[in-house]
Amino acid sequence: MSKESKILLVEDEKHLAKGLSYNLEKEGYQVTVAEDGLAALDCLREDNFDMMILDLMLPKLGGMEVIKKVRETNIRFPVLMLTAKTTDEDRTLGLDAGADDYLAKPFHLPELLLRVKGILRRKDWYEEPVRKLEYYEFGNMWVNFNTGKAKGCEGEFYLTSKEVLVMNLLIANRGKVVSREELLEKVWGYSPNTETRTVDNFISRLRKYFEKKPQNPRYIVTVREKGYQFNEASTKN
Ligand code: CA
Repeated sequence: MSKESKILLVEDEKHLAKGLSYNLEKEGYQVTVAEDGLAALDCLREDNFDMMILDLMLPKLGGMEVIKKVRETNIRFPVLMLTAKTTDEDRTLGLDAGADDYLAKPFHLPELLLRVKGILRRKDWYEEPVRKLEYYEFGNMWVNFNTGKAKGCEGEFYLTSKEVLVMNLLIANRGKVVSREELLEKVWGYSPNTETRTVDNFISRLRKYFEKKPQNPRYIVTVREKGYQFNEASTKN
């Protein structure tokens, strides 16, 4: 983060928006506030941002719809979703819609700042390996790391930006173990020792897409007490 990162903050609660932008600016970020979903899309069209902090419940166009719109043209744009909803189901919905990270209200300011920092650090990391590895084929499946499009056991679909990152890191290191800590740090931007279960949940989802027998995986294997490893496609069946 050599330059000043530009953040789009989409939040309709004026007090919260004001407090957040004040604190983000104090950290050295440039902040633009949009008060509803349509205004957010206008801002994104008019300017380049490094990431967006997006409230889920918004007037005019909800946060989920905003993400879907953004993902139609840019699968990589980092989005941190804020929401009052805290159930696992809502969390999964948000992540499926393409949010990179998720923070439930009420949250502590240091936690938000940590997430923002992590997302921006991950963004820097992201651009490199994706350029090196654009496409990978295994079995009769494939992943296009540029578009996020993939072919799994059940046909073609789109991976979320985070799923693309996890696959990218595993496949770039194929044949080698990638620890949960490394995945967490490089994909989520968290410091290790927190929430390694998040990684396990993503691996389970990826196995459902790419493994005929998710319980007995062939490509995305668990290396006990070490992490995960992507096994190259073998010529034999
Ligand atoms: Ca709201």
